[in-house]
Amino acid sequence: MTRLRRLTGQMGLSPANCRKIMTACVQSVAMFEAELWWRGEGTRGTVGRAEELQLLINQQARATTGAFRTTNLGALSMESGLRPATNQLENRQRRFGLRLLSLPQGDKAREIVGGPTELGKRLGSALRYTWTETEKTLLVEDPGTLDAELIQEEREEAKRQAERERPGLVMFTDGSRLENEAAGYAVAWKNGQTWEGIKTHMGYNQEAYDAECAALARALEKAAKSTPAPEHVTIFTDTQAAIRRMASDEPGPGQKYVLEAREHVAALRRMAPGTTIEIRWYPAHEGVEGNEKADEWAKLAADEPDTPGVEWLEGPRSMPLPRSLANIRREISEKKWAEAREWAGGRTSKKKYRMPKSQRPNGTVATSAKKLAARFYQLKTGHACTGKYLHWTKARPSAQCWWCLHPKQTREHLLKGCPRWRKQQKVLWKEVWKETGKGRRWWKAHELFAEPGCSQAVLNFLSSTDVGKIVLAMEAVEDTASEASEWELRERMEREEERRAEELDAEGGGEAEEEVRFS
Ligand SMILES: [Zn+2]
Repeated sequence: MTRLRRLTGQMGLSPANCRKIMTACVQSVAMFEAELWWRGEGTRGTVGRAEELQLLINQQARATTGAFRTTNLGALSMESGLRPATNQLENRQRRFGLRLLSLPQGDKAREIVGGPTELGKRLGSALRYTWTETEKTLLVEDPGTLDAELIQEEREEAKRQAERERPGLVMFTDGSRLENEAAGYAVAWKNGQTWEGIKTHMGYNQEAYDAECAALARALEKAAKSTPAPEHVTIFTDTQAAIRRMASDEPGPGQKYVLEAREHVAALRRMAPGTTIEIRWYPAHEGVEGNEKADEWAKLAADEPDTPGVEWLEGPRSMPLPRSLANIRREISEKKWAEAREWAGGRTSKKKYRMPKSQRPNGTVATSAKKLAARFYQLKTGHACTGKYLHWTKARPSAQCWWCLHPKQTREHLLKGCPRWRKQQKVLWKEVWKETGKGRRWWKAHELFAEPGCSQAVLNFLSSTDVGKIVLAMEAVEDTASEASEWELRERMEREEERRAEELDAEGGGEAEEEVRFS
């Protein structure tokens, strides 16, 4: 770990690259086989391991962001993009369960999930495996490719092809999943001057991906049932993933639609061996008439299963489709982020730290130079080289600003008030105004740091000033500053901080990492 920290510190890797290295080297080793040993929060025997792992993640997160030892753990987790240990362990277990469920039917390992063994029960509850059935996959005895042309051209050409007059049967497909989780698809074709089509409701446990694949299979079925058999069949879809799925019949999400599609193609070929079958990608929302029709009908089929002309997929309503693997995959991913957010939210104070709206680490900061990014993160989390913080760690006798002698050097003071940086402040607030239409009075420091649109302006401000820099902040080490690198100074300072944190621990017996009041 120390070696890793040196590497990530001294090479000046950007936080984004640090995070990649950390995840690749450390996490994968530390969590090896966690799918099997993790028994959930609060279970004897695994609590200790989760805590150990959390300590490791905290170290990694600090190495990634350059945040101080005392930094609030919730803020640290959000800023570094390294999710908490229990969350990563839970997520691993869920993904493991999904991998087992994706195995072909008949595979004994698939039966484990939700089964009577201890592991089975655990995976079952991790995936909330209580509902009826899950989409099944097969080991195909005679693997092959779809006997049709799959065509993905670049945007302009694809659009031109979609607008062109074509001979034979031309169909547009679309799949839709709404906010209320209802899914449906449509296949649309033109009969003379009027549009006709199939509108199918799919229930509430499918994804748009399933709907898109189902629509392609259904269009091929329509072609196979047409009499006389068409000489040319063209199917347009706006989803590249669905075309890619059609190219392979391997087990996994959507496989059943690929197998259905193969059957329909074979049936069509039996009737008319010379038929050309093309499945083409085209760009959505570009004003192609067939696309608009299919889009409108797919939404209708998802939203209003009772509308005349909309069919319920498999007979009576009480028989929903088996829950799709893609649907489970999405739930796992949403849960992962929601839980990480909850964990962090429970550890931060709304007054000091604004949770990012997006779950992804802020790209502008994460890809900038390490030293600059570190100052950003430090100031953002409030644990930074400001008078107020250094006074709190007892590194300085008072919170006074060392540039203007204002009694409290806070983030607000440095960004707005301190006369030493007047010129740079003007530039900052001008840029912020341009970006957001709101001026310096409106913004609180911690909110400004949380606004991704202003990150570049804040980084520019930091790089044009000494705000949040260590060298000037610590008079005691100024003499050695010329020789030692800033990084070494930081390490020295952190050790000092760690000592301080341990003292606090001993004093109060409470959490040393708890957020302490300052801004
Ligand atoms: Zn000042």
